[in-house]
Formats: sequence, C-alpha cells, structure tokens
Amino acid sequence: MKHALPVTREADFAAWYQSVIAEADLAEESGVRGCMVIRPWGYGIWERMQRLLNDRIKATGHENCYFPLFIPLSYFEKEAEHVEGFAKEMAVVTHHRLIGDGKGGLTPDPAARLEEPLVVRPTSETVIGTAFSRWIQSWRDLPVLINQWANVVRWEMRTRMFLRTAEFLWQEGHTAHASAEEALEETLRMLEVYREFAETCLALHTIAGEKPENERFPGAVETWSIEAMMQDGKALQAGTSHFLGTNFASAQNIRFQNASGELELANTTSWGVSTRMIGAVIMTHGDDDGLRVPPAIAPWQVVIVPMLRDQPEDQAIVDYCRDLQKQLAAQSALGEPVRALLDLKPAKAATKRWGWVKKGAPIVIEVGGRDVAGGNVSVIQRTDLYQDGGKLKSAVMPRGELVETVGALLRTIQDDLLARSTEALRAGITPVDDWSAVESHFAESRRNPGWVDVRWSKPTGAALDQVVERLKALKLTIRNAPQGQGAIEGDCIFTGAPAVERVLIGRAY
Ligand code: AMP
Repeated sequence: MKHALPVTREADFAAWYQSVIAEADLAEESGVRGCMVIRPWGYGIWERMQRLLNDRIKATGHENCYFPLFIPLSYFEKEAEHVEGFAKEMAVVTHHRLIGDGKGGLTPDPAARLEEPLVVRPTSETVIGTAFSRWIQSWRDLPVLINQWANVVRWEMRTRMFLRTAEFLWQEGHTAHASAEEALEETLRMLEVYREFAETCLALHTIAGEKPENERFPGAVETWSIEAMMQDGKALQAGTSHFLGTNFASAQNIRFQNASGELELANTTSWGVSTRMIGAVIMTHGDDDGLRVPPAIAPWQVVIVPMLRDQPEDQAIVDYCRDLQKQLAAQSALGEPVRALLDLKPAKAATKRWGWVKKGAPIVIEVGGRDVAGGNVSVIQRTDLYQDGGKLKSAVMPRGELVETVGALLRTIQDDLLARSTEALRAGITPVDDWSAVESHFAESRRNPGWVDVRWSKPTGAALDQVVERLKALKLTIRNAPQGQGAIEGDCIFTGAPAVERVLIGRAY
C-alpha cells in the first residue's frame, strides 16, 4: 500500500520522524545548530498544550511570573553540583557592543566586556532562589508556589528536533516550603499533574517513578519522571519533578523564622516539561501517513475542504461549508467548543486533503456538489484512514448526523489513541529475572526490544557506577523505579543483594 510519507517507520524510524516534522509543517532547521523554527501547526499544538497544562498548574495553587533570560555567573557558582552539571552546556554573554574588525566585519568590542559574564538560563533555580531569599522571611510567607513559561538554552552536543534542542520552550515550576514532607508532597503532586496531563490531553500513557541517583537533576535530592515509550521501543523522559531538599536554600540563603522564632532553611522543588512533548506525540501517535494529533491538543479538530471546480455551483458549496463550520463550532467536544476550520486556500482539494492527513487533523470533511445536493458530507477519520484493500475510507453521511455526533467522534479518536498508547506500553515491558536474560533480550538483532523490568538493590556510589557501566555497554539506561510498588522478593540482578524495588531499563532518546 502506498502511504503519504516518503519513508515508513519500518524502513527507517529516524528518517520517518524527520519526514513527519517536514511534511506536517511542524518545524524546520533555522541555520543555528540545534535551534528550530516552530511553524504555525507545531506552535498551535504547543499553545494547546500550554493552555491545558497551565490550567492544571493554576488549579493546584501556583501563580505565573517571569524572570530574566540572563543570569549572573556568580549565581551558579553558589551551588557546586548544579554548576558542575550545567557548565558543559552553558551559553555565556561576555560583551555588550560590537565594533568594526577592520576587514568589513564586526567583532565584540574589548572595551565593552561585561564585568561579570551573564549565562543564558539553562534553568532558573539560581535566579528564582535568589528572589525567594528576598520574599521569604517568616513561616507565614510559605509556601511560595510559582511557575514561569519561558525559553531556555542548553548547548547540547547531539540535537534532534523537539526531542533535544539547544533552545527549547518549557514551563518551570519553583516552590518553597516549610518542611521536607511538604516539599516532597509537592514534588509528587506535580509529577501526578504531568502524568494525568499526558494521559488526558496527549493520549500518552506514561510510567511515573523515581530516577536512579546517577540520573538526578544536578543539585536535587530526588528526581522523579514520567517515561513514555516510543513506537520503536525507546524511552522518552517526558517530564521531571525534583525534590531539592535544602540544597538550593542553603546556597541561596532561603531562610525563614518558624512559629517558635528559630531560623530554618526552606525546602524547595522544581519541575518542568518542554517542547520535547511534541516529539513524544509524533513518535507515539504518528503513522506512515504523517502525524495524528489527539483532538484535545489539535489546533483544528475538524477541517472542511470544499471540492471546488471553478464553476458557478462553487458558491453554493462554499455557503454550505460555511453553515457547516458554524454548526460544528457550536458543538462541544472534550469540554470545549469544537475547533472547525474551513480551508479556502487556492489549492486542489486532493492536495489539501492529504495536507491535513499528514498534519494529523483528527477529522477531515470533504464537500462536493453531490454532497450539497443530498444534504450530506464525506467524512475522513484520521485514526481509521483506509478500507480493506487500501482505498481511502470516506464515509458519506447526512450533515445533521455529523453535527450531532462530532463531539462523540472526537472523544472516540482521543480515547482510541490513548488505548493504543497504553497497549503498546503494556506489551513493550518484559519482566526479566537475571542479567543474562537482559543481555539476550537486547541482542543486536532485535528490532523493538522495548524495556525490561528487573529487581535491584538500589546500589549507590561505586556499586551504582558499575551497574551504569554494564548497562552503557548495551546502550541501556535505567528509566525509573515505578511508583506504587508492593513488597519485593528475590535478589538484585546486578549485585545479588536482596532487592528493594523494581526498575525499568531500556534504550532512550
Ligand atoms: P530538567 O530541568 O533537566 O529536569 O528538564 C525538564 C524537562 O525538559 C524534562 O522533561 C526534559 O525532558 C526536558 N528537556 C531537557 N533537556 C531538553 C532539551 N535539550 N530539549 C528539549 N527538552 C528538554
């Protein structure tokens, strides 16, 4: 069967991913390595994600604010682990003026060297913590619960559009609390917000759990993540929530007077998700015809394509489509008004139809002269594109029936995508009882090994380093220790010591 993309997932998953991004008009290279131009369809998806997640962040008591892009280098130097973790990938501003270089070009003016270099934020704990130290004096000032939507820069060596870029868009939540218990509760509350958001809005089944020590955020006491499985079986860390203990508070002097008048360090948290989630949606829901956008985050959920022929009847078709668009927009789906577009661009109907299929609009409606005469519409459902035998499936139905059922149909598409993601994740995890089974499971010849689920003793220090090295030789990493495990019986597959929990292991982006 012929598909809309030039390359299939089966033939070359990495090339397929790039072709979805190009053919669905999501993003393109910018000329600066690792920095992308996000095009309107890609940005529209991001705006939907922002809106839905922002509502959840507000509903859990947080307020938005904004901090500067530039952070004085000295702010980073206060927290040793943090600066060590980010030093290798920081972009730094050293000058504030250019002068002629004598050869017709420009060069930084040595006379305009900044007294203190400014780091382009890779994350904002240091600057927000400094503000917290001013805002927090007494236990009455706690908790402080804030979030910001911003761009950040991490000079990543290996970049891939959306998944790992040098500049990315994200939200970063930062909170301060009177006790470690409260801060830990907050860390897990936001982890659950991410898990529920991914499931409800992105139709993405993820596993929430704690990262091993070697994968912790620099300066964190605990790092928790949601991990998603892509269609090639690789893991993608889709969001993180960090319990920072008093590490940042002691570096930045975030102290408060408790109810009995003593000075105490605050406990802080931070948590973030980024434009990487768009990559997760592509690699989870995309197929060989392009992207499939879950209706909850689709900028347009229904696109109406009139089949015009440069004939006098065209006007009647356009009028019919306009009425339809109004009727659809008056319906609701997934708790909001239906987002319906009438596509009047001057292009052939077939070109537009395939354009929207590749972009992944959940429903495409075609309307020709015969549909108008019969009071019908022709409906293409993105998650059910072909008939047996490989012909495009287009269901003719009365216009009124479509209008009445559009909300239910969009709900069905959303649920169907989630069910497929859930099934793929379940089927992709294999419990394994010893190290040799891990080795054979990830044998080179295996196309889609997914993840293994193993018992371990949670070693630390040098013992953990050894485990990490053994896994690295097979290009594997520990993804997380899933939340809510019961008691564990048996020995650690690495150390032979009694196991304390199960962890998921796989290849990752
Ligand atoms: P972190 O501050 O390192 O915990 O990262 C917060 C979130 O941003 C995580 O969900 C990561 O998946 C995501 N993220 C980290 N680095 C990148 C990057 N280079 N490009 C896109 N997303 C990223």
